[in-house]
Amino acid sequence: MFLFELNQPVSALRGAGPAVAAKLARLGISTINDLLSHYPRDYEDRTQFVPLSQFAKYPSVHTIARVVRHDYIGYGRMKTLKIKIQDETSEAELICFNRNFLENLLPVGSRILVHGKFQFRYGELQSSTFEAEPVRDGQQPSQGILPVYSLTEGISQGLMRKLVRQALSMYGLKIENELPADLIQKEALCDKARAIKQIHSPESMDELNRARSSLAFEELFYFQLKIAMRIQSRRQQKLPRKKIQGLLRGRLLERLPFQLTADQKKVLEEITADQEAEHPMARLLQGEVGSGKTIIALLAALNEVERGGQAAVMAPTELLARQHAATAAKLLEPLGIRLAFLTGNINDQSRPNLLAALKEGSIDIVIGTHALFSDDVEYRNLQLVIIDEQHRFGVLQRIALFKKGRIPDTLMMTATPIPRSLALTFFGDLAVSSIRTMPPGRKPVQTHLAKLGHETKVYEFVRNQLKQGYQAYFIYPLIDESDKSDLRNATEMAKKLAEDIYPEFSVALLHSRMKEDEKNRIMDDFVAGRCRVLTATTVVEVGVDVPNATVMVIEHAERFGLSALHQLRGRVGRSDQQSYCFLIYSDSITDDAKKRLKAVYESTDGFKLAEEDLKIRGPGEMLGTAQAGSLRLAIADPVRDLEMLKKARFEAFAVIKQDPALLNPEHAIIRKVLNSQEKIAESL
Ligand code: ADP
Ligand code: MG
Repeated sequence: MFLFELNQPVSALRGAGPAVAAKLARLGISTINDLLSHYPRDYEDRTQFVPLSQFAKYPSVHTIARVVRHDYIGYGRMKTLKIKIQDETSEAELICFNRNFLENLLPVGSRILVHGKFQFRYGELQSSTFEAEPVRDGQQPSQGILPVYSLTEGISQGLMRKLVRQALSMYGLKIENELPADLIQKEALCDKARAIKQIHSPESMDELNRARSSLAFEELFYFQLKIAMRIQSRRQQKLPRKKIQGLLRGRLLERLPFQLTADQKKVLEEITADQEAEHPMARLLQGEVGSGKTIIALLAALNEVERGGQAAVMAPTELLARQHAATAAKLLEPLGIRLAFLTGNINDQSRPNLLAALKEGSIDIVIGTHALFSDDVEYRNLQLVIIDEQHRFGVLQRIALFKKGRIPDTLMMTATPIPRSLALTFFGDLAVSSIRTMPPGRKPVQTHLAKLGHETKVYEFVRNQLKQGYQAYFIYPLIDESDKSDLRNATEMAKKLAEDIYPEFSVALLHSRMKEDEKNRIMDDFVAGRCRVLTATTVVEVGVDVPNATVMVIEHAERFGLSALHQLRGRVGRSDQQSYCFLIYSDSITDDAKKRLKAVYESTDGFKLAEEDLKIRGPGEMLGTAQAGSLRLAIADPVRDLEMLKKARFEAFAVIKQDPALLNPEHAIIRKVLNSQEKIAESL
């Protein structure tokens, strides 16, 4: 779809003036092409009537009804219109949250077409997610399968449908196939123009499915092509590698108060072998929270330093970067390693010196945040990049690293295991190492659920742990009071915990809006044990390592995602002491939240929880957060489309292998891939 016409701004359409165009831009839509690539998120099947009484048998009701009465529930700003309707089979209520304007549109006595999901609540049949429109007596309502789009404020479903219909009729026939013709034939895909038409305005469910799988295949194919290209460009590099003696590594191992576990030894061997191989390393190190990945990172860095290269260790938060820097200073400075620490906040006089030192090579290992790869940072001989908690960064951030020229060895570390289907999609070019066992003597964290209102018992339990000299975390979903919510927040609870509940212990508050030095001071106090209770938001979610902390209390646990809960729980249980996690939940809890809490309560196995998470949220959501929104699959679903994914992968790799000319940057497909990579890299 790179035709000039399709790249015209949406304002070429009737009804898309500057105001509408600005709103569409919020959805990432600025050209006709973008609009046509904004696939529906769902469909309303209006091919067949489903009366109210059949609400439970079908996904949604689709019926003609009469408006019987208007009522209002609530007062003031919360005042909500409630419309009583009746069709031939039953009565029901339409709850018009934020849609009181329907009062005029659907007056009492009028005949309306209603479409939506209904359920029994408070003793009556209700819907709050319905669509309704008046139908004059004798008039036939609009039928067919209607697209339902993700919207933004000020763009209605109707407007979106109208714009897409218009774009389709003006430009739809100009859409050309991009996939190689033989592939389209082999996979029995429909032409792109047809697929786009049917995805927005399907003639039947069969056509829709065919269009969907054609577009999904195309998307997966490009994805795999990118992966194949990444692998290829690494293979094209032959590196003059020096062997690693392991002298520095050996000296660190001697100084450690513990032995590496068998799994740690094995992954270190795998990494070392990669570092000696002739192509650059691209490896993902998966290991349960607390399984000891940091030490592996430092050992890998020493491998590199020994043969004269530089290594960079990147962490997603400043807090974690600082903690790694402190660990490195303690363990590596005595070996004469030259270390540096670099974050976005280091902008004072020391920065020019630091940058100069990196450039001339008088720093061996630099630790920091993504600031390590800002434009003004140059390295003399950067050979190894280690990315900690990589799931926090967004998968494609690494592309930005590759833009720096020669590809260095890359080691990505994560405590969020990736289900296989997703691993193939997003990490298809990575070798994987896993640490499955914990260091000896660790006891699994005991997890307890408690209902809000019963937390006094939890507080008493925590007091007992504090009395024994241990430390505790209290985690809240919000930083401070917000008028939108009556949830407990960290700021108020820190005060309450300090003054009313634990006046005998020192309690501190930590959240992301605090100044960097203050955060650092508080974290230092907690690490040193001067502060005993840390009240925080999810700033402590990843990486923080304070083995003396034995209790994690998460209030409003229903508000946290599964992986956040698992990660937070992983902050305790980091010594041979028994540790505890309390999940306190309130009454207003959704079904999904119940499933999450149950999963975390029942298992401490990160791999199991990741599969569970995938089931509850679906891959789109799971990757959505994991990738910080940098790139979502628009239509393919790696779990449901796993077989297709494998095929697309096979074909993409075959294309690259068979026809290296495809790597010519002028080739249409490649240009598309490169373009999208540039776009992503720029948006970082
Ligand atoms: P994660 O894998 O979550 O990043 P860390 O690297 O922070 O875990 O390690 C957790 C704790 O375990 C640290 O305090 C670390 O010193 C300790 N540790 C690491 N490896 C071992 C080991 N083999 N034996 C005992 N303790 C270890
Ligand atoms: Mg870690």
